[in-house]
Amino acid sequence: MTAKIISGTETAKQITAETCQEVAELKTRHGIIPGLATILVGDDPASHVYVGRKVKMCQDIGIHSERYDMPASTSETDLIALLAKLNNNPQINGILVQMPLPKHIDESKIISAINPDKDVDGFHPTSVGRMVVGNPSFLPCTPRGIQILLERSNIKTDGAEVVVVGRSNIVGKPIANILLQKAQGANATVTICHSATRDIATHTRRADILIAAMGKPNFITADMVKDGVVIIDVGTNEIGKTADGKRILAGDVDFAAVKEKASAITPVPGGVGPMTIIMLMSNTVKATKMAHGLI
Ligand code: NAP
Repeated sequence: MTAKIISGTETAKQITAETCQEVAELKTRHGIIPGLATILVGDDPASHVYVGRKVKMCQDIGIHSERYDMPASTSETDLIALLAKLNNNPQINGILVQMPLPKHIDESKIISAINPDKDVDGFHPTSVGRMVVGNPSFLPCTPRGIQILLERSNIKTDGAEVVVVGRSNIVGKPIANILLQKAQGANATVTICHSATRDIATHTRRADILIAAMGKPNFITADMVKDGVVIIDVGTNEIGKTADGKRILAGDVDFAAVKEKASAITPVPGGVGPMTIIMLMSNTVKATKMAHGLI
């Protein structure tokens, strides 16, 4: 069997078109322009690239964007003061603080200082609590992107054995919680593996859907999966550079070998990655509609 390739690039394009349409309707019918503030502290080159892409995406789809670049020496107090201002700014519907923050800033304190109604990253404890109990919430962008990718690829999660490898707060734990809900596009039997799991392969071989989110290049090999498995590879690992300095990326799954056993698989790049950023835009539009009583 050679797997069907699940293209995040294609699905993200469709959702971008839908989100553009929503933004245009908000403007023409209600005179509302959604607003997203992005905050970057320090000069981590990867973070600069990620924030730049988010700002560009806002411009492309008609979302008002405000970018705050702050020096690495910024104090926790100053950052919280900026958040308080943005929390009270009616032109700003979503606030994104790019992680990681410099070591002297407590990330959880910063996340908690964002108004939950503007928490478009879905990391605020209020959003996490709502997600876990199954109440309407902002879902974190990468896990929500994975759920939509499964739905739009007609992959049934209902009753499926889903194995997630990785338990981070941004990918592993939320995707497990989302797919566990008694809801459409979820309702799976979920197992979470991590670095203390004994004999990971006994778990991964049971998976109908395997979600790899470890950050370990090519860790999942063909002998660790069953025939017909669906693979969602979240891993984005730089394994080198091309002669002209471009990053060479590998997922957490040995793509070449595993695609011969799987029924469907996401590539890296072009799989989960493109979904993450459009989900941020989609959450910003949702926050805008909520702020104006439209949903
Ligand atoms: P993370 O915070 O480093 O978490 C990694 C998780 O994997 C941890 O729970 C860790 O276990 C587990 N793990 C590490 N080595 C393992 C091993 N040998 N066996 C079993 N479990 C192991 O990483 P993350 O932020 O979730 O990101 C994971 C990957 O996804 C990275 O490559 C990242 O770049 C990528 N990513 C991609 C996107 C996207 O949009 N495409 C978004 C986010 C992340 P412990 O908890 O026991 O340490």
